[in-house]
Amino acid sequence: MKIAKRFELFYFRYMKLSFYDLTFTDLLEVLHKNQLNSFGAQNLYNWFYKQKKSYPCKMELSQETKNFLENRYSFDLPKIHKVIESEDKTVKFLFELNDGSKVETVLIPFHQKYSICLSSQVGCAMKCSFCFTGTQGLKRNLATSEIVGQFIAAWQWLERNRPNEVRILNIVYMGQGEPLHNFDAVKKSCEIFLSKNGTSIGPKKITISTSGYIPGLKRWKDEIPGVNLALSLHSTETQKRNELIPINKKYPLEDVITYIDSIPLSKKQFITYEYLLIKDFNDSIEDAKKTGELLKGKEAYINLIPFNPYPGTSYERPTDQKVEDFKKELQKFKIPALIRTTKGDDVLAACGQLNTAQND
Ligand code: SAH
Ligand code: SF4
Repeated sequence: MKIAKRFELFYFRYMKLSFYDLTFTDLLEVLHKNQLNSFGAQNLYNWFYKQKKSYPCKMELSQETKNFLENRYSFDLPKIHKVIESEDKTVKFLFELNDGSKVETVLIPFHQKYSICLSSQVGCAMKCSFCFTGTQGLKRNLATSEIVGQFIAAWQWLERNRPNEVRILNIVYMGQGEPLHNFDAVKKSCEIFLSKNGTSIGPKKITISTSGYIPGLKRWKDEIPGVNLALSLHSTETQKRNELIPINKKYPLEDVITYIDSIPLSKKQFITYEYLLIKDFNDSIEDAKKTGELLKGKEAYINLIPFNPYPGTSYERPTDQKVEDFKKELQKFKIPALIRTTKGDDVLAACGQLNTAQND
């Protein structure tokens, strides 16, 4: 008994759970199980998520609740290891996690508001041939608290550094990692972001981007309904897509599209198809026609992303004219297409340029 008690003390002192791993329902349950007033949950969520403040919570809580939280939970956020601000106001954070791993998060500006691009893994197992992150391989999954923590830490940075622009309106899971390959943690982080008691971000403001990992897609349909999906398409041709996204061999595009087509979308929900344009590889008018044929008639948007080069890659970015021509061809199929202008290029913060192994 004594040993058990000692172990418990050791465990709670050194292996504290993170508060940021608790959904609102989890928090209610924890308080209830420990005979604490569940009314505290509202105040805690208000302090840490609505107001995005740091520990300790200065809202009304019973002394027992305060003691309980102090002993059991850590309120640490990922530490800012480096911040790089780009000329176009993009901000790239390099966060250091408890085990020393580093991940990147990017704030992308639009009209004094921001979208935040979150990482879901340290590295990525998918090894796409055009992706700087992919070259690292998968180091580990992020915990929910490490995903949610990126958002809160970035918000607090804005509050300190750009006090008139503290608004993060959209969340995209397009940083390091394949979010559907770390499904449980990503799902929980969405639940926390969606909670009306906390950040209260609408499901349409959250987008999960995937390379087409079918086991995760199946769960997305049932378990995070309403949250938007972006599919990294990049080519309609099997051989080319196999080269770009090796998991296409296991989960071929036809199966991915058939599956996505079978999902009933809610009102205003749509699928975004991302198409990475690489010079002389997948940027021809013929490629555009095939893409148009594949997507015509669907509730779809296309984001055209000119390839962002990084040190050591042999792929190149097409000319702006080539990108425009590709877009024009798609419009013939009545598919709305947007060219995603590259933000944060000067600080290697654009999509696919995130490789934390290089930034130590
Ligand atoms: N793993 C997910 C989400 C992270 S990658 C996915 O693959 O969808 C986010 C987006 O950045 C994807 O569309 C990906 O294809 C794109 N991307 C990766 N490397 C890139 C690069 N070098 N240039 C431009 N876009 C890139
Ligand atoms: Fe992973 Fe996405 Fe990069 Fe592919 S593009 S290696 S899935 S992060």
